Amino acid sequence: MKEKMPKITVAIDGPAASGKSTVAGILAERLGYLYFDTGVMYRAVTWAALARGIPIEDERAITRLAEELRIEVLPPTVDDGRQYTVLADGQDITWKIREAQVNRYVSPVSAYKGVRRALTLQQRRIGAPGGVIMVGRDIGTVVLPEAQVKIYLDASLEERTRRRYLEYRQRGILRPFREVKEELVQRDRIDSTREMAPLRPAEDAVIVDSTCVPIDKVVRRIERVIRQALEQVVGG
Ligand code: C5P
Repeated sequence: MKEKMPKITVAIDGPAASGKSTVAGILAERLGYLYFDTGVMYRAVTWAALARGIPIEDERAITRLAEELRIEVLPPTVDDGRQYTVLADGQDITWKIREAQVNRYVSPVSAYKGVRRALTLQQRRIGAPGGVIMVGRDIGTVVLPEAQVKIYLDASLEERTRRRYLEYRQRGILRPFREVKEELVQRDRIDSTREMAPLRPAEDAVIVDSTCVPIDKVVRRIERVIRQALEQVVGG
């Protein structure tokens, strides 16, 4: 049944810690789709810039880095709770891209037009065959504007802070709640006010608010939207 269905393209956008990756991971598994989290690419470029000592203000050098860095996202190669393995020029950076320094600088790096051009090109190539759930900030508006399903997943700042705070704690990192909240506020502000591809819902996006909604209910709601879109494709 699953195999006979045509495969469509699903875009999931939304602010930091709105639950996009959890929901997309579950749905991709259920539907037999590829799950691709575009945030890892921006994080990989930011991590590589920091590791190589490239100043974050050096737009030209960071753009060149984004054009040249070989980023690969593979099924998990280590059983340590990761959703996927991320390699940069062959080096495993899966957990390194979640570090505080990367969180701090990823939004300024992502605002550079040349960086976005280079990464968007690669993301479109990955999305082209269909059968993909792509997650990010500009997937429905810029990367895959032809996606048959566009979801904008949101949640209150309080709830998103709580989720991110707990995620840190699970990884053994204790950070003040206030600091985690401030980091999200800063990141969302830069992401939604930048000139190129700002974070915003596509006009035809279905807006889903996950504040105080259990994850399985959010998944079911989005799955219904995807199944309806599939029926439309089958029905012509
Ligand atoms: O989704 P995640 O929090 O990992 O994304 C990290 C950062 O990467 C975002 O805050 C944003 O600055 C950038 N990003 C982006 N466009 C995307 C995905 C992520 O600008 N499509």
